[in-house]
Amino acid sequence: MPVETHIEDGIGVVVFSNPPLNPISASAGIPQAIEAALRALDADPQVKAIVLAAEGRMFSAGADIAEFDKDPAAIAAPARRLDDVLDGLAKPVVAAIQGGALGGGLELALATDYRIATADAKVGLPEVTLGIIPGAGGTQRLPRLAGAAQAARMISSGKVIGAHEALRIGLLDALAGDDVRAEAIAFARSVAGEGRRRSRDREISNEGGPEAIAEARGKAPRGAPGDAVRGALDAIEAGISQGFDGGLKSEYDIFDRLLVSEPARGLRHVFLAERAVARLPGLDPALKSASTQAVAIIGSGTMGTGIALAVAQAGLPVTVIDANSAALERSRSSVENTIARSVERGRLMEATGQAQRALIGFSLDMEAVRGADFVIEAVFEDISVKQQVFEALDRLADTGAVLASNTSTLDVDRIAAFTKRPQSVVGTHFFSPANIMRLLEVVRGEKTAPETLARAMTFAKQIRKVGVVSGVCDGFIGNRMFEEYLRQAYFLLEEGALPQQVDAAMEAFGMAMGPLRTMDLAGQDIGWSIRKRRAVEQPDRPYSRIPDLICEMGRFGQKTGAGYYLYGKGGKPEVDPAIDALVVEESRRLGITRRPISDEEIVERCVYALVNEGARILGDGIAARPLDIDTVWVDGYGFPRFRGGPMFYADRVGLPQVLSRIENFTGAYQGWAWRPADLLRRTAEAGTGFAALNGESA
Ligand code: NAD
Repeated sequence: MPVETHIEDGIGVVVFSNPPLNPISASAGIPQAIEAALRALDADPQVKAIVLAAEGRMFSAGADIAEFDKDPAAIAAPARRLDDVLDGLAKPVVAAIQGGALGGGLELALATDYRIATADAKVGLPEVTLGIIPGAGGTQRLPRLAGAAQAARMISSGKVIGAHEALRIGLLDALAGDDVRAEAIAFARSVAGEGRRRSRDREISNEGGPEAIAEARGKAPRGAPGDAVRGALDAIEAGISQGFDGGLKSEYDIFDRLLVSEPARGLRHVFLAERAVARLPGLDPALKSASTQAVAIIGSGTMGTGIALAVAQAGLPVTVIDANSAALERSRSSVENTIARSVERGRLMEATGQAQRALIGFSLDMEAVRGADFVIEAVFEDISVKQQVFEALDRLADTGAVLASNTSTLDVDRIAAFTKRPQSVVGTHFFSPANIMRLLEVVRGEKTAPETLARAMTFAKQIRKVGVVSGVCDGFIGNRMFEEYLRQAYFLLEEGALPQQVDAAMEAFGMAMGPLRTMDLAGQDIGWSIRKRRAVEQPDRPYSRIPDLICEMGRFGQKTGAGYYLYGKGGKPEVDPAIDALVVEESRRLGITRRPISDEEIVERCVYALVNEGARILGDGIAARPLDIDTVWVDGYGFPRFRGGPMFYADRVGLPQVLSRIENFTGAYQGWAWRPADLLRRTAEAGTGFAALNGESA
């Protein structure tokens, strides 16, 4: 039964359950059953007051987001109806909140008369992070409890706050010890004779409200991605000027409109995709339980050091091993500095910083891998160095330890073959800076055992990364697509665009950074060495010479103070006329008459290059589902979350349209690069879209 009730000495107790996070899910019958239980207790003359509680570790995480796209028109109705029922009761209701109440879960609690929570509980209305606003009274009831200013700040940021803070601002009425239900029952008894104390009947304190609302409006992203924040603030203002019912009507209208907006669809897709990536088709979910206890990292360079920080931040012990004592010392001081800076900036408590530092050990001796159940190799990108390290690991590492390589370009199967335990070898491709970037590509080798893969995915979760499984290929999912994206960015320069125009167009589309600025940040020399290798391996797939010419000038990007742009003290990119001249000269040398290129063409060519290569990656079985690709691009490459990732975006544009543009490009400049992927063509012709390939898990 999703809802159980009993009466304890005059107090009616309603307990709902929808494990593990108690979403108020209409398809599971939760709101309907709560409604029936409340009505019955309200009508029972024995009952003087009611407690609303939930089973499990948290009160409720809110609505079930997977249900939103199935029937958007019906999604909010049951919760709104339940609020109306609560409003119509004769007896007071006390919500007993353990663990947390978020979104629709908090809105339900706000519609009761009193709220008691455990001291560790977290509460918030994070709807704007999903491109919507609270849609079951949250924008009206929270301001009436906590004041307009607090409510505007909380709802517009989507920030979740702790119970102590929630008590201070009036959202909660009391904090409880471990047995919140028993304390709520005692509380209910104490208010049983006092009648209702509905939040809707209270006056809004508007002290500081107009200022807080104006400030939040100022911070809202421009254009469609900011609509949710502005909508939430509009609803709060409507509640102030028109009273509860007028405000509620505004909230409902704004919610209903935003629910089906493009940004909300994209954000929902990413939210669900980030959870679905861990549920790899064909991988037994029971395998995921083995978690990592101790980590060793070989190589204390940029990546090894960043990974060590990420591991220590998650509370796991880690030993960093390097053959070079100077490198090890640099790593040690880099760890010290990073932690000290975080403490200085107030991002980390002093004690937590010390604890993290204490978790990281350093060693010059490979024998120190003993005792680690997860070993990550991050030495030079050179197959003979990898061979030497993996042969040593095979001799020294504990039986059953996962042996992971952080290689970005080498063949994981070749690396696995350096050991007599290829089933334990997997790729873990971190992104720089590894302590900050959320993405982790987990590379499944031909012989990687399912247990090894599952352990790598669990490890990703332990260190709070989003792990996405990729097959073995040059560049894995992310960099293989990035290469085609860059190829188009460079060809656009040859045909008539300038770097600043390409970057501005992609940033207006929503990319965190345009492609050429990204290369300046990453360091042009890395791309240069890849292009040199490509020129030998793939002479039939030419690259533009422009980035090579820039490298030949010693302009490797930000680290040398110049790349496509000039970088002054603040690190801000400045347009350099010398680069414009270089680009124009290269067009002349190629015999190209430069033409004006629209921002629309820039976006189409860069993004459809991603989509086409993404489709090829799916066709090759390198990515299991389109949602895996979307997650890689959103979490690793700054693709706009609100657009849902490149494959989701292609579906929104419509695959027949994408295909027709790509076919068009095949007849234009460097058309060879645009051969449509078979899977793209098939899916477009079937009229289904990539979404159909995501399967049940999406
Ligand atoms: P790095 O040059 O900064 O560090 C490599 C470290 O390995 C050096 O400290 C070196 O002393 C040590 N080392 C070399 N041979 C060793 C051996 N036999 N035993 C022990 N230590 C040894 O390199 P990095 O940028 O940290 O890259 C490491 C790996 O991560 C490479 O495979 C690279 O392709 C990959 N990667 C790098 C990035 C990046 O952005 N830098 C991103 C993803 C993956």
